[in-house]
Amino acid sequence: MAGELILIVEDDELNLKLARDTLQVKGYRTLEANAARRGIELARQHQPDLILMDIQLPGMDGVTALKQLKADPFTAAITVAAFTASVMRDDCDRITHAGFDAYVTKPIVVREFLETIRGLCDLKPGGAA
Ligand code: MN
Repeated sequence: MAGELILIVEDDELNLKLARDTLQVKGYRTLEANAARRGIELARQHQPDLILMDIQLPGMDGVTALKQLKADPFTAAITVAAFTASVMRDDCDRITHAGFDAYVTKPIVVREFLETIRGLCDLKPGGAA
């Protein structure tokens, strides 16, 4: 089961820890960054199967980070989900327009979260890139 590598970019310690622990229990491998620049660096180095990207981050925000990832041939094909507390319709539209492949809401609800992650990992035929 699982085994995919997931990069979590999140500046809130608790959200980061919850997401990481939940994924690891299910057998996913994880990478963590608490700022966008570090996240981009890790994405280039490790080519994760999925990135969970917080929107509000210190320094560079998640939307800008997404644009950089998508503009870079080394990271352009990686699925990037906005990891966000926003649930308002307008926010969803804004996130989709920004070019995210999906969004994952937080605080996470374990079962929903895992279902969403599984679905996103399965988007790519063959699983691990
Ligand atoms: Mn944040």
